[in-house]
Amino acid sequence: MKSRQTTCFLLLALSLAVPLFPSHASKDDSVFERIKREHELVEKELHQEKVKALSVRAMSSTGPQSIDVKHYRLQIQLLPNVPALAGTVTISAETTAPTDTIRIDAEANLIIDSLRFDGVQQDFKRKKSRIDISLAQPLPAQTSFALAIGYHGSPVTSNILGGGMLVARHPADGETVMANLSEPYAAPTWWPCIDDPTDKATAEIEATAPRGYQVASNGVLDRTQDNADHTTTFFWREGFPIATYLISVAATNYERFEDSYTAMDGVTKMPLVYYVYPEHLALAQQKFAVTRRALEIFAPAYGEYPFLSEKYGMAEFPWGGAMEHQTITSMGASIVGSATNNGELVIAHELAHHWWGDLVTMKTWDDIWLNEGFATYSEVLFFERYLNIDPGELMSRSYDDGKVFGNLGGTVTAESLDNPFNDRGAIYAKGAWVLHMLRHILGDQAFFDSLKDYRERFAFGNASTRDLQQVFEAHYGSSLDWFFQQWIYATGRPFYKVSTDVSTLDPSGGYVARVTIKQKQSQQIPGRVESVYIMPLDVTIHFEDGSSATQSVRNDSRKQTFLFAASKPPVDVVIDEGHWVLKKLK
Ligand SMILES: [Zn+2]
Repeated sequence: MKSRQTTCFLLLALSLAVPLFPSHASKDDSVFERIKREHELVEKELHQEKVKALSVRAMSSTGPQSIDVKHYRLQIQLLPNVPALAGTVTISAETTAPTDTIRIDAEANLIIDSLRFDGVQQDFKRKKSRIDISLAQPLPAQTSFALAIGYHGSPVTSNILGGGMLVARHPADGETVMANLSEPYAAPTWWPCIDDPTDKATAEIEATAPRGYQVASNGVLDRTQDNADHTTTFFWREGFPIATYLISVAATNYERFEDSYTAMDGVTKMPLVYYVYPEHLALAQQKFAVTRRALEIFAPAYGEYPFLSEKYGMAEFPWGGAMEHQTITSMGASIVGSATNNGELVIAHELAHHWWGDLVTMKTWDDIWLNEGFATYSEVLFFERYLNIDPGELMSRSYDDGKVFGNLGGTVTAESLDNPFNDRGAIYAKGAWVLHMLRHILGDQAFFDSLKDYRERFAFGNASTRDLQQVFEAHYGSSLDWFFQQWIYATGRPFYKVSTDVSTLDPSGGYVARVTIKQKQSQQIPGRVESVYIMPLDVTIHFEDGSSATQSVRNDSRKQTFLFAASKPPVDVVIDEGHWVLKKLK
């Protein structure tokens, strides 16, 4: 597209002059300061993680297989004081095409003690990060089978996010805590599985820990059993399909407390179940109270909480951030135990992942923004409704360049599968901006309808960016390829240089405001010859009498001039006053 000058005449009826955000009270700076401090604390702790660099494979080493896992039964013994772990994983699966090899992800720290195929001992090859099984006879398609793998090993952490089976003492009473962080690729450091986020399955987690410990895990606790060797086994069952990186065990001398959420039907009650270090009980009881409020905010916006028949829970663990393990979020001890951080932002973020991440999971790790951008924008939606903050003001003040996520210079699609989290500015904050911009382009009704539709279509499964685009296009009524290409696959953002002139007098006796917008950025946008962003931009004319009027213009070339006729004297023109576009403006 060549540079050209376009002139538009847009007549502003003065009746358009309505305040931009009538429903949002102006907030003093303390709210933004609080949000900033909470972000900073999480970020600082993340950077402080001491990571023993176990190099786990960049992504599922097993690659695509013609196997559909139906159910995992994970029987695991946690030995926090050694520390060590041991267990048996039984994988119930079905072939989707004729198959003569099965590959299981299991990192080198796991020693495989036995392997049985349909109850019969089976030979296997131990590779660096996996187990290869060659079957004597190929299995026809749609054959059910069960693999039981006995193993033991030492806990290790990986070089991505410091994940793995974490072992630490909590400072106040010296008791050991053992809890996992598997995202993205660390599940096979503590249990053998087919570590493919698109192959979800139901799961039983039977975890044994020293007597006096409690084990928090996914789904529903069916029962506990005291064993003769002074251990207790916790029988957990996740009845909804779950991705392997969301399976979790967390064990220590937890204090457990409960709250309850009443569903939107006004009748159904769901337990909120919390496990915290004894020394943090009082703090946690204060902080976690907001969870119910967050559920009451997200359920009407996104549809009812997806795991209503099970629970929502949080379990404290020895890591700087938090992780949305399905129905049992792990919450960093530094957040739970902080005297200054009330944890609202993190609580809202992890809860929101239960729609965006757990219920609808990204199809590949390139699309991790579908988890993180959504959860980050959910922070904004939460504060918008909880504290009545204007979402644009919050986006521009707390989620732009130079804030705790760093610069938003990269592409929203992950740049490297070796570490999909290597550019948090783009994946978290710019991803949140993508949703914020779509919200303005579609309007609130169509935006939230799109999210509910996206949820419906991909519930308990996986979605790609392309899937999301198609849902938004169905509600928008035409292609949004122009939007997705420039915002997901291009680096950076548009740089608008704006000049305005409000002094022109219309020959007919009225007034004219003139706005010229030049685009100065130079990054490549896929499919475009020139670096030109196509965006609807709000132009707000302020008048001498204190009123204002806002008109949306379509900005789609290097240099464009817009003229606005008015019947009273304009004094100022502002581009994107509501902060609906990620941009640089001069
Ligand atoms: Zn997240």
